[in-house]
Amino acid sequence: AGALDRALGLVREVIDFPEPGVLFRDLTPVLADRDAFRAVVDALAATVPPDVDAVVALEARGFLFGAALAAVHGYGVVPIRKPGKLPAVADRVTYDLEYGTATFELPADAVRPGQRVVVVDDVLATGGTLAAAAGLLTQAGAEVVGAAVVLEIAALGGRARAGLPVRALRVV
Ligand code: IMP
Repeated sequence: AGALDRALGLVREVIDFPEPGVLFRDLTPVLADRDAFRAVVDALAATVPPDVDAVVALEARGFLFGAALAAVHGYGVVPIRKPGKLPAVADRVTYDLEYGTATFELPADAVRPGQRVVVVDDVLATGGTLAAAAGLLTQAGAEVVGAAVVLEIAALGGRARAGLPVRALRVV
């Protein structure tokens, strides 16, 4: 717990980013520190339930944590991507953000019906991102057993909107 506490202590709070009134949690210092990154990746992995077939990582910061977790702990990794990046798309979803909308695409032939998957991202805010990812995966026939995030911003109520079991390493 000491190593994880130290790691999470490196999260930087940035006022008025990306726009006025927003307090942005910047995880860059956690990623850049060898011991902190390892502690966070291992703690995320410890939240993954048994018999999971694959980790689904969300573009872009979810890739960093999700891929590391998958490689170190022995899972395949499926990237859910922003539009226009994938040559073959199984399905796409457009969802609401705090300001505006965003689109996610699930790669073709990456998840099979009945596969048990866990979604990994860096921060849970309003929950729209996790809900969109879970919708794509469910539509593809996967069983979304949960999500793992480094930080959850509780005041935004994202856990309820996400609509799946979320494990957060720290709730702020
Ligand atoms: P949500 O859809 O509102 O839950 O927003 C979650 C998405 O926005 C995640 O993919 C995060 O990477 C990003 N995000 C929202 N707030 C923050 C923050 O304070 N720091 C880093 N990423 C954030």
